[in-house]
Order: sequence, then structure tokens, then C-alpha cells
Amino acid sequence: MERSTGFELRQRQGVWYCVIPSFERTGLVSHGFSTRKGGVSSQQYGTLNLGFNKGDSQDAVMENFLRFCRALDINPHDTVFSDQVHGDKIMVVGGGDRGKGAFRESDILRVDGLMTQEPQVALVTFYADCVPLFFLDPVHRVIALSHAGWRGTVACIGSKTLEEMRREFGTRPEECLIGIGPSIGPCCFEVDLPVAQQFAKVFDKYEDIIIKPGLEPGKYRVDLWMANALQLEEMGVPSHHITVAGMCTGCREDLFFSHRRDKGRTGRMAAMLMLK
Ligand SMILES: [Zn+2]
Repeated sequence: MERSTGFELRQRQGVWYCVIPSFERTGLVSHGFSTRKGGVSSQQYGTLNLGFNKGDSQDAVMENFLRFCRALDINPHDTVFSDQVHGDKIMVVGGGDRGKGAFRESDILRVDGLMTQEPQVALVTFYADCVPLFFLDPVHRVIALSHAGWRGTVACIGSKTLEEMRREFGTRPEECLIGIGPSIGPCCFEVDLPVAQQFAKVFDKYEDIIIKPGLEPGKYRVDLWMANALQLEEMGVPSHHITVAGMCTGCREDLFFSHRRDKGRTGRMAAMLMLK
């Protein structure tokens, strides 16, 4: 069976966000991926910027954050933030970590992936083109969120997350549901030869990932969605358990911030995932 395409776009109390239909059907989680619509920030951060420390007003970002939590029915004090460095470190978090990032100093440092088996612990990771990977093991009731930019993708953070879930909680990849969220698409993600070569080194099926010469000479286009899907299927996740949002942050200026398109002057979206 094929991979599923499409996250669903929702609006609640004026806040727009995307959900994964397969995750929703389990009834086990509250989750969402934010858009830029429904917040109070202005200019390049307009309007639902969730990036703290990106030059936006802290009050505005906090208001945006509270709105997004309310839309997802998540208590903001139950959230735990990542601290992303385009690495491949994944951390198991629990009840004692609630509030880290939003309301108190955090010792979760240089961590691109979060995982938990505890209910009411809301994992939060941040994006402006990189690929959000959502994991749900409905059998052992384990969730994870990983931030996979191109560096994370070639570092195999997706398969490392699954391995970690297996080691810590006995997760079997064939039972996992996966969501590959809105991020820079093969239409817009253009790289130089050295980056393309890194993909060719890591992926056997690199012909499916490095799609064709780029728009400019000497450039290549890379399909990060495909790269992550293939990586997870290789681990044993069935194709039909994978939902690819298929929404490009670079193309959809109406919905998303994009680091590339906006040349670094932009806001952040967030992924949130919590076991009920
Ligand atoms: Zn695009």
C-alpha cells in the first residue's frame, strides 16, 4: 500500500494548524503543526511566530504560544521544548521536565529529538523549512518528535529515533505511525554538489531523492520528504503507516514561515505532540 498524502488544515479560535488524520483516528494524542495564521506578531513574524529568541517581541511570542496550546487543548505548562542544533541527539523526557523552555530554565541542550511514554507531557520542536517527524507507537503508547533538516536527514535522525524507541520502550517499527510535516519541498530545496553527494553516500536509492539538476547550473534538488520516508521504511515502517503532508514551506507563503525564502528574516512554526 501507498504512503498517505496530506495533513488536514484546521482552524480553531482563529488559530490555523495542521493535523495528521491517522494520529487523530487513534484518539491517543493531542497534536498539531502550526501555521503563521492566528497570532499577534507583526512584519516578518506575522502573525503566529513561535520562535522565542528570534528578534520578535517576547510578549507577542508568548501570546502566540498560549493561543496555539489552547487550540490543541494542551496545557502550556505541560510543554517541553527541544534545543535544536541540526544534530541527531534524542532525549527521553517525562513529567519532571514539564515547563522547560517556556516557563523555566532548561537542561535539555543540543537536542533535536524528544520522546516520552508519559501522558500529559507535550513535546515541542521548532521549524522554518526543516522536516518535522512525528512518531506514534499506539501499542506501547510512545510518542516522539524529531527535527530533520538536511543535516539531520543525512545523520539519520529518523531511524535513530525509531531505534531509541525500540531500545527504551520496545517499540516495533512495523506498528508505528509516522507524520512527515510541512517543510521545504523538492520544488524549492536546491543544494550544491557537496550536499547532494552526502545524500548519495547515505541513501542507496539516492536516484529517488536527488531528483534532477536544479534551477541553476551546478545545483541539485533534493527531496527531503522522500529521503525521510525511505529511511523509515528501511527500518520496517509500512508505507501506508506514513503520512506525508506534501506542503512546501517555501511555496506556501500564505501559510508558513520559510528560512530560505525569507533569507533568514522570519518566524518559526512549532510541532506539538502529547499523549492524552
Ligand atoms: Zn516549494
